[in-house]
Amino acid sequence: MEASPLLAEDLSSQLKILYDQVPSTCCANSGECCALTDAEFDQGWATMFPLYSAEYLHIAEHVRTHFSPQRQQELFSFTEERPRRCPFLGEDRRCTIYPVRPLICRTYAVMDPQRIAQALERYRELLPEPWLKGFARREGGMLCPRVRVMQPEKLEQHIYNLITTFYERALRRLHGGLELADPERRELLFKLTGRRDWPLNWTWGGFNALCAAPLEWMREHFKGYWKKAELMDAV
Ligand code: SF4
Repeated sequence: MEASPLLAEDLSSQLKILYDQVPSTCCANSGECCALTDAEFDQGWATMFPLYSAEYLHIAEHVRTHFSPQRQQELFSFTEERPRRCPFLGEDRRCTIYPVRPLICRTYAVMDPQRIAQALERYRELLPEPWLKGFARREGGMLCPRVRVMQPEKLEQHIYNLITTFYERALRRLHGGLELADPERRELLFKLTGRRDWPLNWTWGGFNALCAAPLEWMREHFKGYWKKAELMDAV
């Protein structure tokens, strides 16, 4: 995959500003949240998902500049849409792209049942009920008792951001200014799928199928790949 001239420094710095609002955590590094059990797979769960377009470009740039040519080749040719194990999970069960991991991996298990209940009580009269229900549903599905919050001073703003979907809206705004790949791929995407925009979020494998797979493969196989895709723009 060629280096994208579209990945400006300011994309990286805007993501950093966003990510800095999420309290940092530490955990047992078991890697359990980065791979799926059979039951989780059958229930439709996915690792490292949703991955937003701006985050895909950010991680792709990191891979190009920090990984060996062989590893780059492995990672950019990875087109599995819903793998059982995140392609960035190392053999030692640590994240190999930790500094640029996406928002979903940063927010995972920051909230616990007590914090969710307190937030719901606190904002009950202040914010719309559908927002609170959405927040409880999303965060209630991302719990892990082994995760500890290391920056509790950031929790209040983070909770407000989660309830008001501030992070998602910021990532959507960033998406508006991006070209994910060259015009030929964009035209192929439009022609083969009837879409009129790049996907806002997908998975590492899905974005690779669109942005990094050989053009001949895309011409021949992308339509079938897309028809079977489950996760494009799923948020
Ligand atoms: S990007 Fe890193 S933290 Fe996120 S699922 Fe993959 S290995 Fe885990």
